[in-house]
Amino acid sequence: MGSRVCLVHYHEVGLKGKNRAHFERILMDTIKAACAAFSVATCVRISGHILVTFSRSGDAERAFEVIRRVPGVARVSLAFHTNRDPAEYHRAAIAALGEFGPFETFKVAAKRSNTDYPIGSMELNAQVGEALCEAYPDKQVRMHHPDAIVHVLVAQGSVYVYARSERGVGGLPVGSAGKVVTLLSSGIDSPVATWMLARRGAVCVPVHFSGRPQTADTSEYLCQDIIGALAPAVQIGRLYVVPFGDAQREISLSCPSSLRVIMYRRIMYAVAERIARIEGAKALVTGESLGQVASQTLENIAAVNEMVSLPVLRPLIGSDKQEIIARAQEIGTYDISCETAPDCCTLFMPRSPETHARLDAVHEAWDAFDHDAMIEELVRNVEYIDFDSSSYKPPRALRERHEALIQRTIDDAPLS
Ligand code: ATP
Ligand code: MG
Repeated sequence: MGSRVCLVHYHEVGLKGKNRAHFERILMDTIKAACAAFSVATCVRISGHILVTFSRSGDAERAFEVIRRVPGVARVSLAFHTNRDPAEYHRAAIAALGEFGPFETFKVAAKRSNTDYPIGSMELNAQVGEALCEAYPDKQVRMHHPDAIVHVLVAQGSVYVYARSERGVGGLPVGSAGKVVTLLSSGIDSPVATWMLARRGAVCVPVHFSGRPQTADTSEYLCQDIIGALAPAVQIGRLYVVPFGDAQREISLSCPSSLRVIMYRRIMYAVAERIARIEGAKALVTGESLGQVASQTLENIAAVNEMVSLPVLRPLIGSDKQEIIARAQEIGTYDISCETAPDCCTLFMPRSPETHARLDAVHEAWDAFDHDAMIEELVRNVEYIDFDSSSYKPPRALRERHEALIQRTIDDAPLS
C-alpha cells in the first residue's frame, strides 16, 4: 500500500516571489532539524509542497506532530506514497479514509501535476470515489462541505494519498527574518513573546536576568526548560544569563524604593541592547502587555524605552492575560512558567512601585548610582548556555567583541 510520508503545505513562504526558493530552502532546513530524532530519508520540494520521507516505519506518524509546530508550516498531511498503479492508490485511499476519524460524508479531490499520466483528475475522482463507495457502503459522497476529503496527488512518477491533514502554526521559517534578542523571564508572557517572534521567522536569542547570587539559580533552569519545551520545532541556540542580584542590591540601596523597578528595567534593557549589538540582532523583544502590572503603564514603558536605540518589539502589548495563557498552554511553556522561582523581579521589590513615573524623577534616581560602570560590569560577566539549533550562528570571538563594543560605545562610533 506504500510507505508513509509527510506532505508539508506552506502559504506565506509561497507568496514571497523571487525569494521563494530561498525561503523554501530555509523551511526545508528547519523541518529537517526539527525531525533530527526521526529517520528522515529525503526532504524535497514536489509540486508546491515539501515532501518528507522516512526510512523507519512509524516515524512519519510521529514526525507529523512535530512538523505541525515548525514555523512556516501552514498545514501538514500524513500521506501514503504509492506507485501509479490504480489498485495501489485505491487501497491507499481506503486506508487514508479509515484513519481519518469519525465521518459520515466524504469526497475525493484528485490533482495531477504530471500530464504524462493518462488518467485526468476528473476521472481519478470518479475511480477512487467508486473504490471508496465500495469499501464504505454506508457513507455518503458530498461535494460541498464533506466531513472528510481524500486527496490524491499524482506527481513525479508517484501518487500521494491522504485524508489526515492538520493546520500548522503558520508564519515564516526561523532564519528568514533576521535575529532578535528577547528578554526572557521564566514567567508566562516572555516565552510566548519569544515564540511569536520565532513564528514570524526571527532567530531568537534570549537573555535572562537572574537574581543570583542573591537568590538561587532556579529561574535559570526554568528558562532552560522553556527552551526545551519550544524545541525541536523552534530551536533556540543560545541563552544568555546575567547574574543581576548584586546590581539590584546596589540599586535598592541608592534609589527611592518606588523607582527601583524602573531602574532595574533600564539596566536590563541597556545590557540586552549590548548583547544584541554583539549578536548582530536588530531588535529587542519583551513580553509586556499594556497595564498588566505596575511596570507596564505607558509612562513606565517610556521611562525604560528611552534607554535603547534599537526597536523594542512587544508582540503581546494588546493581548489579554487569558489569551496569553492559552497560547502558553498550546506551545507547552505554561506549566514551566507556573513553577515559582525567585528571579530578579521578586528580589528587592518595593511595597508600592511607581506606576506613572515622571521622567525628571527617573533621571534623578538614575544619576544616583554609577549606572555606566554597572552596565559594563554586567556585560563583562554575562554567561551563556548553548543548545542544538540549525538556525543560530554565534558571534565570533565573543570576548573580543565585548571589548570592541565597550570601546566603540565610548567613542560613540556607529555600531555594527
Ligand atoms: P513575564 O510573564 O514575561 O515574566 P511579567 O508579566 O512578569 O512578564 P514584568 O515583570 O513587568 O511582567 O516583565 C515584563 C517583561 O520584562 C517580561 O515579559 C520580559 O520580557 C522582561 N523581563 C522581566 N523579568 C525578566 C528577567 N528576569 N529576565 C529577562 N527579562 C525579564
Ligand atoms: Mg515575570
